[in-house]
Amino acid sequence: MPREGQKVITIPKSTWDKLNEYYEAHKEEYEKKGIKSPTKLITQLINYNIPPFEDYNVCEDYAIVIDKRAGKGIWVHVYIKENKPYCDFCKSHDCEHIKFLLEKEDFVEMLKKK
Ligand SMILES: [Zn+2]
Repeated sequence: MPREGQKVITIPKSTWDKLNEYYEAHKEEYEKKGIKSPTKLITQLINYNIPPFEDYNVCEDYAIVIDKRAGKGIWVHVYIKENKPYCDFCKSHDCEHIKFLLEKEDFVEMLKKK
């Protein structure tokens, strides 16, 4: 029986073996990041491969992206600074939050108005 809040999944044994082999070869480096088992690595891989940002909101001169990778979700603010989008979370003009927003028509429209 899985622990509360957990689910059991099955994967092909060959995939599991491949994962285990990979994990063992990189164990030290993963353990430093808090990934202390092959199953933790699977969780990490899934979380990072499912698009983490689906929700966003464009306001008058900034936008918010809800980054779900951190569990409940962080509100990431993207401002316009020096005529370019600036992510307050990444402290960058070029990050995945901005890349995500640049694919959204309403954000691009807001940018044009600035
Ligand atoms: Zn960012």
